[in-house]
Amino acid sequence: TTVPESHSFEADVTKLLHLMVHSVYSDKDVFLRELISNAADACEKLRYEAISNPALLGDDLKARITLLIDAENRRLSVEDNGIGMSRDEMIEALGTIARSGTRAFMERIQEDKGAQLIGQFGVGFYSAFMVADRVDVVSHRAGSEEATLWSSDGKGSYTVTPIATDEAPLRGTRVILHLMEDAASYTERYRLERIVKEQSGHVPVPVFLVEKPGAEPQELADGAALWVKPRSEITPEEYTDFYRSVAGQFDEPALTVHFRAEGRHEYTALAFVPGSTPFDLFDPDRHGRMKLYVKRVFITDEAEILPRYLRFVRGLVDSADLPLNVSREMIQESPLLAAIKKGVTSRVLSELEKLAQNNAEAYIKVWETFGPVLKEGLYEDFERRQTLLGLARFKTTASGGAWRSLKDYIGSLKENQTAIYYVTGTDLARLEASPQLEGFRSRGIEVLLLPDPVDSFWVTAGVDFEGKPFKSVTQGAADLAQIPLIGAKEGSNATVTDSVSSFIQSVKATLGEAVADVRASERLTESAVCLVASETAMDRQLERLLARAGQ
Ligand code: ADP
Ligand code: MG
Repeated sequence: TTVPESHSFEADVTKLLHLMVHSVYSDKDVFLRELISNAADACEKLRYEAISNPALLGDDLKARITLLIDAENRRLSVEDNGIGMSRDEMIEALGTIARSGTRAFMERIQEDKGAQLIGQFGVGFYSAFMVADRVDVVSHRAGSEEATLWSSDGKGSYTVTPIATDEAPLRGTRVILHLMEDAASYTERYRLERIVKEQSGHVPVPVFLVEKPGAEPQELADGAALWVKPRSEITPEEYTDFYRSVAGQFDEPALTVHFRAEGRHEYTALAFVPGSTPFDLFDPDRHGRMKLYVKRVFITDEAEILPRYLRFVRGLVDSADLPLNVSREMIQESPLLAAIKKGVTSRVLSELEKLAQNNAEAYIKVWETFGPVLKEGLYEDFERRQTLLGLARFKTTASGGAWRSLKDYIGSLKENQTAIYYVTGTDLARLEASPQLEGFRSRGIEVLLLPDPVDSFWVTAGVDFEGKPFKSVTQGAADLAQIPLIGAKEGSNATVTDSVSSFIQSVKATLGEAVADVRASERLTESAVCLVASETAMDRQLERLLARAGQ
């Protein structure tokens, strides 16, 4: 029964592996970060399962990750005493592309041949093949009597073999890398020490190093939870390192929010606004990535702690009050969690407000990266709409490419102007050239330029700001007549002459049913005609979007 059983990789895995092996990506160190993060995930999964089934832990209670060097055989192993994998789990996890990050990576790489993306995406387990020409994975699922050896040279197939449990770690997984010749330096202690400190210093499980077979383990990282420490004791570098490991990002955070809520509910939140766009920002599922811990035990990253329009925020909440021994589903329903969600959401928004006040430049960068996502909140979160409108920034016909707030806009309303005017479309240059704007320009009325798809939705949600409704320039008879033209002489406003009337009659006759009406307009000063939607009908841009979506 110990005959190796051969399997082929899923086609996409083969493609990915080919890319790994032949990649010119120079920073191969990332493989270690990936393996350590998998080992830490496995330890956290076990801790969670052990809440309802303590027997899984046996008498090996303390989670740990160990790097084992065998320089003589040019081998490096990463071992954990986490949850482990059964044979079937190994086939599923290590033979297919299960994780969405890797999928997204594959899609991007096809457009854009740059192997540089490897570092940005963190391509998971398969990155081991950047440094190894054979990878063996020995795993023993917690609570099971069986152990399995998975082995591959990364060239299209792998084998799985049942093995005796005494050849496997007592519980958990050992990943053995048979290093390529030019990767031999990954058996040097100092090299590993440096990489772990740089990349994995804040994984929530301690990391040890065993310098040669039989040597004593030495601690490289203590696995202490950074968020438990007071803010004053954490350096900016520590925050950045932690952000990188929790967010899978490789830049600097644009905003760090760290606070402890006390009183009725006690919890700690540590959240980051990334400095650049995370790859999964526009995933159709729009899930958030905030992790939920209870008393430092990882529970789930599916608690949707923040609303979807804040899904770019990465980090965690650690609750002192939520019960540990209930299912994830029960936790979702808990009123305690609802209170946490509310508290964390308000805090993130108020920290964004503060940033906007204190460092406008940094805030604009955040808006440029995440504005289209934040704007989803304008129609999804009625309660916080005014806050979100306050955070919103717009390019306008008067801003010369700069960003303006609605406060700025309201501050320069024309006399008799009763609405906030906007024009929606798909690109700024086209919007700015729209003939619909002529009448507004010639009266010096500022118009918001709204180029994002999301804009067509929130503007129709009955939104107003400081008592002024939002109005499309393409909709109905804009109340322009009340506002004087710049430099216009008294009485020069369009009076509909007889010749215009008869022209309108003949246009109506020609177009027939295709239009609802043909009118003389205050809207235009240079162009002869433009199309508008009626006051009660859908905005033109929304009409186009819905038509495209087949509605
Ligand atoms: P991800 O970690 O994002 O899921 P990876 O490619 O890094 O993607 O890993 C794929 C899967 O392999 C993991 O989701 C997990 O199920 C399994 N796996 C990898 N390493 C381990 C490990 N040390 N212990 C248990 N399972 C593991
Ligand atoms: Mg992983």
